[in-house]
Amino acid sequence: MRDVKVARRDFLALGLGGAGALLVYGVLRGSSSTPPLRPPGAQDEERFLAHCLRCQECVRACMTACLEPAGKEFGASRMWTPRFNPRLAKCEFELCGRACAEACPVGAIKKPPDEEVRIGVARVDRRKCIAWNEGKSCLVCYERCSYQAIEPDSRGRPRVDESRCTGCGACQNTCVTCPDPAIVVHPLKEKGSKGKGVGS
Ligand code: SF4
Ligand code: SF4
Ligand code: SF4
Repeated sequence: MRDVKVARRDFLALGLGGAGALLVYGVLRGSSSTPPLRPPGAQDEERFLAHCLRCQECVRACMTACLEPAGKEFGASRMWTPRFNPRLAKCEFELCGRACAEACPVGAIKKPPDEEVRIGVARVDRRKCIAWNEGKSCLVCYERCSYQAIEPDSRGRPRVDESRCTGCGACQNTCVTCPDPAIVVHPLKEKGSKGKGVGS
């Protein structure tokens, strides 16, 4: 019986140890291979991670306070790198003088022309959107988009034209279903990749 108890205890210890190791591995590796949204003009992810000092100068300089340090959910290698979070504010890259790029001491954030800025792409979750799911009148996202990237269909349901979307985050920031917005900006698969056209 004693042997059985010891074996059970050892088994539990092994299990807990294994879970701890998995947790550490998960944090180191990153629970998601998807990078966070970056400030406009950030270098491609690999170069950005190699150059960024995690100094927070860009976060402090941001004119709209839409940047924050990335947490462990993006993996240890990305912790403390700047993350654009549209829930905090819209990115006003056409008005702010690109304070984040100006502040970066190592040039990890460049200043591409306004017309080339593409932070991410907005997508509508039709299960959450009250126009799609409940047939209600809304289109706040359409009204807030400065880039004519949201095209309502004949029933007043928002659809995103990915070729126009800059990823500025105004739609996500003002979505009426916040704090669980029905329209969310997602990172681009490849920097500079063009959208496929109107979608949702
Ligand atoms: S471009 Fe302006 S608003 Fe956007 S992250 Fe940089 S400082 Fe903030
Ligand atoms: S200012 Fe540059 S180096 Fe510093 S955290 Fe921002 S991107 Fe990284
Ligand atoms: S759809 Fe949203 S993220 Fe895209 S440009 Fe318009 S407001 Fe900005």
